[in-house]
Amino acid sequence: CNNFCSYCIVPYVRGRERSRDPQCVLEEVRDLVEHGYKDITLLGQNVNSYGNDLDISYDFADLLSDIDKIPGEYRIRFMTSHPKDATRKLFDTMARCTHVAKQLHLPVQSGSNRILSEMNRRYTREKYLGLVEDIRAAVDGVELTTDIIVGFPGETEEDFEETLALVRQVGFSAAYTFMYSPRLGTRAAEMENQVPEEVKKDRLLRLNACSAEQLKVGNQKYIGQEGTVLVEGCDRREKAPMAYGKLTNFKMVYFPGDAGLIGSMRHVRITGIQNNSLIGELVE
Ligand code: SF4
Repeated sequence: CNNFCSYCIVPYVRGRERSRDPQCVLEEVRDLVEHGYKDITLLGQNVNSYGNDLDISYDFADLLSDIDKIPGEYRIRFMTSHPKDATRKLFDTMARCTHVAKQLHLPVQSGSNRILSEMNRRYTREKYLGLVEDIRAAVDGVELTTDIIVGFPGETEEDFEETLALVRQVGFSAAYTFMYSPRLGTRAAEMENQVPEEVKKDRLLRLNACSAEQLKVGNQKYIGQEGTVLVEGCDRREKAPMAYGKLTNFKMVYFPGDAGLIGSMRHVRITGIQNNSLIGELVE
């Protein structure tokens, strides 16, 4: 990674960004699809800067477009996208490509501009919210997930409340939340204004309660909608077996069905909500 966020050890231990040859990635995806793999994830610390170090003019959106041309029944996901490098071109490509999942993991880390600057994230709260608006306008039904750190050195109650307000405003379908913990050798570990553990714990609990509430509200809108589930497994703990899998936007759906459905794509109608998942019924 080339970014050097002030809390992160990755750039020191993993070195600089390197983009794999596009033909090599395309070959690998083609091979996976031919072998029947249906859920393929492109993984990098910052996939949005893919191509910056290539000799040709070719970026991550170009790679997604080329992968999408590979025929077959499969989905492509990717992570992680750094907000500073997310582009309108990427969002338009996601909207256009039929194999690309309608889900974006976009780590915000904090809702406070002061803390974002101390973290060396190189975007503002306003820039982040602008990206959210852009992707929702471009990609119909997209769901957003994020990462958030609470208790970064110097984070005040006001800074934290800005994070809570951002979470309420965006309505993420999942937030992976962490208490800040110092990594030896990073700039943030040397900062003097470390936040006490009990304050971090309290903020984490409040943030998790807030994001759970948003998830509940967000799930309501699915009742009555239809979509395609890639069936991943079968839960036999209920009276009747329940097949489960994800919609293209990563929402988990359970519906009556047996293990014979695993690996297939099924059209379902959403009929209810249970915990953090959706409940549905087979349409075909
Ligand atoms: Fe790179 Fe992510 Fe670490 Fe920032 S948090 S330095 S973008 S790996």
